[in-house]
Amino acid sequence: MRALRLHGDRDLRLEDIPEPPPPAPGEVRLRMRGIALNHIDVWGWRGMAFAQRQLPICVGVEAVGEIVALGEGVEGWTVGDRVAPYGAQTCGVCRACREGRDNLCENVSGIMGFHIDGFAREFVNQKARLMVRVPEAVSTEDAACAAVTFSTVEHMLFDNAKLQPGETILVQAGGSGIGTIAIKQAKALGCTVIATAGDDEKCAKAQALGADHVVNYSEKNFASVARRVTNKRGVDVVFEHVGASTWSGSLLALCLGGRLVTCGSTSGVSAETNLMMIFQRQLHIFGSFGASMRNVADGLAKMAGGMTPVLDRVVPLEDFRDGLDRLESRRVFGKIVVTI
Ligand SMILES: [Zn+2]
Repeated sequence: MRALRLHGDRDLRLEDIPEPPPPAPGEVRLRMRGIALNHIDVWGWRGMAFAQRQLPICVGVEAVGEIVALGEGVEGWTVGDRVAPYGAQTCGVCRACREGRDNLCENVSGIMGFHIDGFAREFVNQKARLMVRVPEAVSTEDAACAAVTFSTVEHMLFDNAKLQPGETILVQAGGSGIGTIAIKQAKALGCTVIATAGDDEKCAKAQALGADHVVNYSEKNFASVARRVTNKRGVDVVFEHVGASTWSGSLLALCLGGRLVTCGSTSGVSAETNLMMIFQRQLHIFGSFGASMRNVADGLAKMAGGMTPVLDRVVPLEDFRDGLDRLESRRVFGKIVVTI
């Protein structure tokens, strides 16, 4: 079968590898249909954590597939069902897993495509426990964005920041995969959305998605804009994932008692924090990573209801590398989906 494997720093190869054995008890065999690209793919491709990984490794953390065979004891699934497989191999027995909060698993084997073989291959054996059904109304390309992207936004906005109708939210990098979904989610809830983006074209697109205010952060100070737009009060919630280059401004943009939720640091992992501001202004900072199984299901239900992810482009497996290039250089608006 065809598989896309990473052999070293930026060394991705499309190659033939043996098909997996028949699915073990509790597993299904998936015919993979699509992969959505994420920043963790870029990090892995650039050589992050090579010391802890065995190479070559099959890439791809976020995917959609179709069941082609069932292992012993698998119930509730049939051949032909489309599923979004979870992006990590969790233990299933720790307290967090038993409660469906797999992103807090205490004995996780690894993130797919990063620590352990991922989904960019024709066939994968997957634990039936670690997948969510794709509703009929959801396209395969959109479903490829469910297990990591859409669910991460669900988890950030609703489990962590507890975004409420009528609140004002600052969405950093509103043209990114998660940023575009955050804009849609917040608008659907009835929030006022301020979105940042790196150029005027992305700003215009973010506005077309529903953002009430857009800021080209390469030209304007987004924290000042956020204060002006809210009559100096500041925003209730900041949706962060840019990191070093936006961190202090994101904190400055918050209202008294405001909440910042972050799931990433694409511009760098270290930033200065004014601690006096944290306690005097009584700010809340939430770290968010991945999502629960329920978040994945909720995201797919929203897609079925019409809140679809924004797709930058859909490309064949051969162009996976080109997709990573585009993601790394921020030449995307929304998600890049690779078909298999
Ligand atoms: Zn666990």
